[in-house]
Amino acid sequence: MTTSYFTGGLHLDTHKTESSGVAPLVASIPETLIFPLFMRNGQDAQAVVEAGQHVLKGQILARDPENLTPPVHASSSGIIAAIETRALPHPSGLSGRCIVLNTDGLDQAREASSIGENYSDYPLETLLRHIHEAGIVGMGGAGFPTDIKLRGGGACAIDTLILNGAECEPYITCDDMLMRYHPEEVLGGARILMHILGLSGNCLLGIENDMPEAIASLEHTLQSETYSGIAIAPLAAIYPTGGEKQLIKALTGREVPSGGIPANVGVVCQNVATAAAIYRAIVHGEVLTSRIVTVTGVGVSQPANLVVRIGTPISDLVKQCGGYTQRAERLILGGPMMGWALPSDELPITRSANCVLVQDMATIPHHNASALPCIRCGECAQACPVSLLPQQMHWYCRSENLPRIEEYRVMDCIECGCCNYVCPSHIPLVQYFRAAKSLLFTQAKERSKAEHARIRFEARQARQQHEKRLREESTRRKREMLEKANKSQPEASS
Ligand code: SF4
Ligand code: SF4
Repeated sequence: MTTSYFTGGLHLDTHKTESSGVAPLVASIPETLIFPLFMRNGQDAQAVVEAGQHVLKGQILARDPENLTPPVHASSSGIIAAIETRALPHPSGLSGRCIVLNTDGLDQAREASSIGENYSDYPLETLLRHIHEAGIVGMGGAGFPTDIKLRGGGACAIDTLILNGAECEPYITCDDMLMRYHPEEVLGGARILMHILGLSGNCLLGIENDMPEAIASLEHTLQSETYSGIAIAPLAAIYPTGGEKQLIKALTGREVPSGGIPANVGVVCQNVATAAAIYRAIVHGEVLTSRIVTVTGVGVSQPANLVVRIGTPISDLVKQCGGYTQRAERLILGGPMMGWALPSDELPITRSANCVLVQDMATIPHHNASALPCIRCGECAQACPVSLLPQQMHWYCRSENLPRIEEYRVMDCIECGCCNYVCPSHIPLVQYFRAAKSLLFTQAKERSKAEHARIRFEARQARQQHEKRLREESTRRKREMLEKANKSQPEASS
């Protein structure tokens, strides 16, 4: 049975077979590994190693001073060559501090610290700390710290765990490969997550029905009683089924409120690769130093999935896939709908990077077309899986009318690109929405700064007034005591 759906979305050419013909290959150790220190909150993690230092695989290289983002680990052994500013694999195209590690080819690992199969004997806080220290973040693209997401449900009653195996974006097959070849890791991770969330059942693994090998592999593994309470939920292959809110709607019928999180409707959602990483961390003591990455597109000689060390330059991966073809014209990190173009293949793979796509311009829709005026055809609104009105938002984005843009819920836009794809006027709608979101973020930050400044100012004034009152009170008392003392003394002349 195939589960029914959310509104909008697109049926796209999947281009999955190009890279899914063989099992994932283990990529060789590159000469250099690069670890950006940039974190989601815009700050840098602090390096805890220095240039010239020898490090082991799995050793911590950098930590978040506030300990919110999980630490960064070395993904092979070698010498720290530098801590320097380099281009970042980020849509902003900005540069930032990176740790550069020259590998020694020995791949010596630090001693693993595992909890083991008896994880249910341990306090929940120990498990969450272990997940944090293992460097685990959302591996479906968002990169959000996993332990924080698991704690996020604290105030809400969670009754459902959803594993996201939808992998709806064209070309990307790394989760498909993981489910085909390592179902026990995915399902083992699901069991640990269920334990952490206090669930004995109600774990749904959402997977698009065009992944029959992965479904068969998972179903085979699920025959063991070990995995009771976990069910496979096949979904129609419609983009963007894998969007968190769309997946929750498709599987449970529940709608995450605007500005809300899945926990608000009793759901925790984790990517299948994140679940597998949790399993390896808890049961085998492995920190997150590698992941499966799809290297594909008409610009790659032999598209494939590779098990890649985090920090590996993209050029190394393309080389291991036979190099570029003559059609290689554009390099994208991620898929064709939500990924972003990279200026160079010297940028490294991060924990949340799932795909390297090399396209030619002919395969990019509307790449040569100039934007024309909106003809108000309504195609974009029909395709939007969040039921937004992209043409209205575009109208207000052009005039930077932030209150109206907000009113039209631009912050709910998941940047799926469906509206761009269908727009007959070739308007780069998502670019407008990203820019508007960024303006709204800045405005909110400024407001919050101003509010903090106001509170600080008022608190200082209140403190100064209080201190003034205390001083006056003290002076008054001293004066009264003095007057009293003077009155009680006999007059010198009497
Ligand atoms: S699809 Fe393009 S042309 Fe049609 S209404 Fe939307 S923005 Fe306007
Ligand atoms: S990019 Fe945003 S506005 Fe456009 S279809 Fe996707 S969610 Fe809707």
